[in-house]
Amino acid sequence: MEKIGFVGLGIMGKPMALNLLKAGFEVIAFNRTKEKVEEIIKAGGKAANTPKEVAESSDIIITMVSDSPDVKDVILGEDGIIFGIIEGSVVIDMSTISPSVTRNIAEKLKEKNVEMLDAPVSGGDVGAINATLSIMVGGNLSTLERCRKVLEAMGKTITHCGTNGMGQTTKLCNQILVSVTNMAVAEAVLFAQKSGLEAHTMVEATKGGAAGSWQLANLGPKMVNEDYAPGFMIDLQQKDLRLVIEAAEEMHLPLPALTYVHQLYKSNQANGEGREGTQALYKSVKRLA
Ligand code: NAP
Repeated sequence: MEKIGFVGLGIMGKPMALNLLKAGFEVIAFNRTKEKVEEIIKAGGKAANTPKEVAESSDIIITMVSDSPDVKDVILGEDGIIFGIIEGSVVIDMSTISPSVTRNIAEKLKEKNVEMLDAPVSGGDVGAINATLSIMVGGNLSTLERCRKVLEAMGKTITHCGTNGMGQTTKLCNQILVSVTNMAVAEAVLFAQKSGLEAHTMVEATKGGAAGSWQLANLGPKMVNEDYAPGFMIDLQQKDLRLVIEAAEEMHLPLPALTYVHQLYKSNQANGEGREGTQALYKSVKRLA
């Protein structure tokens, strides 16, 4: 069985690494804040002192950190994965980062005869805990096939999206869909309320029809109840929308709806609501009225 290295044991990474152990893989893990490795050791894993050390004893190395510069740090930076990696091993980055940065890192690894997959996920912390993540994969299909069992220990839907960067591009499409739909839900809830229509009734009546969506069914009732506890935080969503806007800039592509939602989330952040759930977009829409 392949030996798995894991770098980044945050909200997502820790349960994903635990699921790999549950599936019977050997796991050696690194986290910048050392205490977070303890649970992995208790579950039968090993700890490493640097990403380089992880790479020295792994066949497949998974990274799950925050943003593009962080993935660069742990792979290409001082004591990074690239300095310990064994020829023929695979790096799978499961963080959500820039498609062009991904391609850049993949090229650097290729010089060492190492294949990379970009494999960002959707499904949130619940999906990470239950191993039901949707995983969007960019890179060689043969490399994906080699890693399939590993990905299956963490996710339910695994889709090959194309060459390096296409997994990240798919994830950014996912974020366009999620955030623009959220905006439609916020406007419909406010419109119902201003019209004197009971907004829960509106959600119930529409969610099974052509207007149905995950956002309407799950975030609509939260907007009506003014429940802003985070499932997915605005600050994190903004990081992803920034990645979408940067990638669109590179292509000279206007994205008017997405950009508008990004600005309204900025208003949430300016009002101290960045750590609330994305359903708090409703508050920004309401403030305009
Ligand atoms: P998180 O809880 O903030 O964890 C981030 C992890 O990355 C931590 O282990 C952190 O180490 C590590 N890290 C960050 N920068 C680093 C650096 N420069 N060097 C070394 N380690 C670094 O975040 P998360 O929610 O697990 O998210 C991880 C990724 O998954 C992000 O790209 C996010 O967009 C994506 N994602 C998240 C969700 C979600 O619902 N949370 C859903 C889908 C995708 P420390 O412990 O030392 O801070």
